[in-house]
Formats: sequence, structure tokens, C-alpha cells
Amino acid sequence: MWLQSHRISAVELTQAFLARIQELNPRINVYVTVNAEEALQQALAADERIMRGEDGPLLGVPIALKDVFSTQGVRTTAGSHILGNYVPTWDATVVARLRDMGAVFLGKVNCDEFAMGSSTENSAWGPTRNPWNLERVPGGSSGGSAAAVAADLCCAALGTDTGGSIRQPASFCGVTGLKNSYGRVSRYGVIAYASSLDTVGALTRDAADAEILLRALEGIDPHDSTCVDASSMRDQSAPADLRGLRVGVPREFFVDGMQPEVEQAVRAAIEQMQVLGAVVKPVTLPNTSLGLPVYYLIAPAEASANLARFDGVKYGLREIGADLIDTYQRTRAAGFGSEVKRRIMLGTYALSAGYYDAYYIRAQKARTLIKRDFEQAFAEVDVLAAPVSPFTAFKLGERTDDPLQMYLADVLTLTVSLAGVPGISVPCGFDGAGLPIGLQLIGPAFGENVVLAAAQAYQAATTWHSRRPQL
Ligand code: GLN
Repeated sequence: MWLQSHRISAVELTQAFLARIQELNPRINVYVTVNAEEALQQALAADERIMRGEDGPLLGVPIALKDVFSTQGVRTTAGSHILGNYVPTWDATVVARLRDMGAVFLGKVNCDEFAMGSSTENSAWGPTRNPWNLERVPGGSSGGSAAAVAADLCCAALGTDTGGSIRQPASFCGVTGLKNSYGRVSRYGVIAYASSLDTVGALTRDAADAEILLRALEGIDPHDSTCVDASSMRDQSAPADLRGLRVGVPREFFVDGMQPEVEQAVRAAIEQMQVLGAVVKPVTLPNTSLGLPVYYLIAPAEASANLARFDGVKYGLREIGADLIDTYQRTRAAGFGSEVKRRIMLGTYALSAGYYDAYYIRAQKARTLIKRDFEQAFAEVDVLAAPVSPFTAFKLGERTDDPLQMYLADVLTLTVSLAGVPGISVPCGFDGAGLPIGLQLIGPAFGENVVLAAAQAYQAATTWHSRRPQL
């Protein structure tokens, strides 16, 4: 569809992206693996399908994949030395779906190691740079995906969001990023971080593209028992515009110490929605401040269990020791980076006998309170509008020495993840330094339709999402 309307072939488009990647990747460090030969073959096959009269929104469309999606025959590293030479023998379900639809895979893009981070600086392959300012971070953990879209190094990119990893980099790079409801999109073949929080979604140029990707990715999967058929859920029919849409503004999301330009831009966006017919009212999510401590107990606890499989026997790196235990220890010591080790230790501690009730169970109880906050708010409003991040993209290295400062980058995205509800980041302005600002629109569980409709109506009336960095 897209290709036909632009009258170019999939091969031409793929060649243009590959040339641009070759030119810009040394400066931005987006692609960890470029899949040139296979991409051109896929493009050729797509052109043949188009010639035979086939049509489809993603047929021949070049896509980038965060390096946590398993790709058959193509190295998949999760940004980690421990998987530096790991080549999966199968595709993640979402990859297989896109492949069947005729998408072209340009390659694998950088991310924080095992998706742990907010800046894409925790990657074994070096940091990715923000296309708007190469001295700034692109956000994380899907920073490569966001930078790839912002720098025109793909048409769209897949990412994962466990606590903000799609929305926050989308906001830092001035692109659109949809974090789906927990359970809406299959995670089979996606390298796990925290299983009760991980979600798959897309980073795109605008919310219309986000909808195309959601329709392509969603649906039940016999390989993922947490994945539901959303059509049977509450997916309300999408409103045609903002008239009468009830927009709640959560007071707790305008935090002390936030960058004034961010607050101004987000408040201006909300005003604009009101001008377009939305009914805006303040709401409260009183347990928002529990988000950070609760998330940083649950996510590391689950990560410590998920990462136990990387032991030098089954996947990737193996550092042979004197015996099996020694091999485990040497492999994990050499293979994991320091942030991953920190989380494994935190998580193992929180799950250990005697502390499990005090930490993990209590965190799960507090999580229920956070979830209820959202349920109560959505009894009164259709969507929530808030900032994505308290500040715009920070400088490379600025937060790497202080993990808590890094964790604070996600204060406004974590509770949405803990509640399992959908959220989108859409560009809504720039700060004085020319860095993009994101507006977060949050919906009730499986209310992606409403979130996307609100985002599309906002983008139809604004041009922030069509600005591009000068490279
Ligand atoms: N920055 C958060 C973390 O480090 C969220 C990451 C994510 O969503 N994958 O855990």
C-alpha cells in the first residue's frame, strides 16, 4: 500500500535505506547487525508479490528490529557479550508474522543490555547517539529503535517496553512509540527481561503507522499463554475525533524538579486537545510514588530468574572452567555487564528465603494499589494525558555513574507498565536546546483503540511528529 502510493519498488527503497545506514551508522551507532544481502532478497520477493497483484500495508516495507527479537539465522545479542555470537534457530512470533506479510528486515538495532536501562549506554556494543544531538542519549532501552526511526534509517522499528523502554526513547528522539497492553502481543522468541511486565510494540513516524504495526503484531499465539485475543476484550470502537473525549490529567505526573519546558509543552498539548473538543479534567493516581520502588523490586526479581539460563551451556559465550560450577561462574562474570549483574544481585536478594515476603510479595501488593488507581481514573475518563519523561534527552555519561539517577528517568512510565495498560508517546514540542518533548497518552487495559485515536487526532492538528533532525 505504502510502496504503491509512493511509486517506488521495495528494492529501491531498501537500497536507499542501506546506503543511508552505511553513511550514518558510524556516527550514530544504531545498527548492531546490518542484514543487507537478506534484506535485498526479501525486497525482491516483496516486489514479485506486488507484481502478482498482492497488497498489504507492510509488503516490502523495511523494518528495524531491536536486538532482543530472535531472528532465524541472524545474530541476536540483546546488547550483551554473553550473546555476542548467538544465532537463533527460529524467529520470534512477531518476526515470523512480519516476515509472512512481506516486511523487509534491515537488521538488528542497539539496546541496553537485556533491555535494562534508560539511555542505551548499557550496551556491549557502545552507546547509540541521539540523532537530534549526537552528544545526547537516545533514551532506552529501545534507543536504537527510536534513533533508527528518527534518523530515517528504517520505516518503523520494533521495540520492547518493560518500564518505559518504548515510550521514553520515542520521546527523547521525537518519534511515536506505542507500548501495548500486557498480553496483547506475543513475546515468544523475545529475550525476556521481566516476564510480568514485558510488552512488545512499535516505534513509528506517527500514530497511523503505529496502528498498522499493532494490527500486524497482535493476536493469540499458542507459544505464549499470556497472550490474549484482544478483539474479545474491551477494545472500544475508536472515536473519530477528540470531540467529547474525556481526558484526565494526573496531578502526580507533574513532578517537582521537572524541566519547565517539558511541563509547558505538555500542558500546551493538553490545551490543544481541549480546543479540538476534548473534555479535560484533573484526576489523581495517589500511588504513583510507589512505582519506582515497586518496579525496582519486581523487575530485578524476575530478571534474576530469566537470566539464570545464560550459563555457558545452552546459548552464546562459554568460558570453560575447572568444573561445571566454575564454568557457570566464569561465563557469567565475563559475559554480563555491570548493570545486569547489579539487577541479578538485587533480584536474587529480594527472592531469597526470609526476604521474599518482605520484598517481592509486598511489592506485588503495592502493584495492586497502582493498578486500582488506573481503574478508578478510567471510571471517569477515556484517556490520561501526561509527560513521558520529566526531562529531555540528557548528555552521554551524565547518569551512568549513579544508577538511581538513571532509574529516575522512568518515574512517569513505570506505573503504566505495572498496571499493564497501554500508553503512547507522541511528539509535542521541543526544548530550548532543540530536543524533542513527548506527550504520553494512557488508556485502560486493551484500550489501544482509544489511545491511537486520540494520538491520531492530535497529530492531524499538529506537525511536531513530522520534524526531522538535520544529519
Ligand atoms: N529503564 C527501565 C529499566 O531499566 C525500563 C526498561 C524497559 O522498559 N525495558 O528497567
